[in-house]
Amino acid sequence: MLASGSRGNCALVASATTRILVDAGISCREIFKRLKSLAEDPHAISAILITHEHSDHVSGLATLAKKLRIPIFMTGATHQAWSRAMRDENGERPQLEKLERFESGHSFQVGDIAVKPFTIPHDAADPVGFTFRAEGIKVGIATDLGYLPASVCDHLRGCDVLVMESNHDVEMLRGGPYPWSVKQRVMSRVGHLSNQSLADFFANGYDNSAAFVVLAHLSELNNHPEIARREAEKALGLRGSLFRNRVLLAAQTEALAPIRL
Ligand SMILES: [Zn+2]
Ligand SMILES: [Zn+2]
Repeated sequence: MLASGSRGNCALVASATTRILVDAGISCREIFKRLKSLAEDPHAISAILITHEHSDHVSGLATLAKKLRIPIFMTGATHQAWSRAMRDENGERPQLEKLERFESGHSFQVGDIAVKPFTIPHDAADPVGFTFRAEGIKVGIATDLGYLPASVCDHLRGCDVLVMESNHDVEMLRGGPYPWSVKQRVMSRVGHLSNQSLADFFANGYDNSAAFVVLAHLSELNNHPEIARREAEKALGLRGSLFRNRVLLAAQTEALAPIRL
C-alpha cells in the first residue's frame, strides 16, 4: 500500500514475475519515491489498473503513463469520465498510449496474475474492486464503496490478503466538520464504508480466509486509526479469528511495509 486515503490511493500487487499498480492517486514523483523506499523499481511495473475516475485515484496517472509507457487498464466508462475531466483549455482530451479497456465481471490476465474486476456501489461512472490470483494466492481490494452487497462479499471469498475500506466512524462523521451535504454523500449507499459496516461484514459475511486484513481509505477527519483497528479487531475477535487475521493499517503519508506470502 503506497498511499491510502482521500488525498490519494496507490497500491502495488506483485508475483515473482509481474508487478501491477492499482490506482495512481498521488503524484508520479511521490509514487516513484515510495516505490524506491520499498526497493521497488518503477520501471519493473507491468501495468496500471484504475478502479474509478475520482481524483484521489488518478491524479498521477497522466504523468505516470507518459513516463512508464505501460498498459493502463480501465473500463470504457471510467476512461470516458477521466478523459472528459482532464480536457485542457482547448477541449483536447489526454491520450493514453496504451489503453486497455476491461469490463467489470470479466477476468483478464496481466503476466501471470489473473485479475477479476467486480462492480462496487460508489458514485463514479463505473467503479470496480479487484481480486488478483497468482501462485496459489488470492488478494482482494475493495475500497470506495457505500456498502457491501452480497456480490462483493462473494468475490472476496478465499482471499489471503484482504484490503478493505474502513473510511469513517459514524459518530465522528455525524459530529464532524463536513457540511451536511457531504456527510450525506459519504454515508450514502454510494459513498464510503464505515468502520461499523466493515465490522458487520467481519462478524457476519466474512469467510475468515485472510492471513492479513488491511484497513484502507481511512478518513483523516472522521476516523482515527486506533478506532478503526479496535472496531475491526473486536469483530474478528468475536469469531475467534483474530489470531488468523492480522490487522494492518494503510496510511496516507507513507507506504506500508510490504506484505509477503
Ligand atoms: Zn471514490
Ligand atoms: Zn477514493
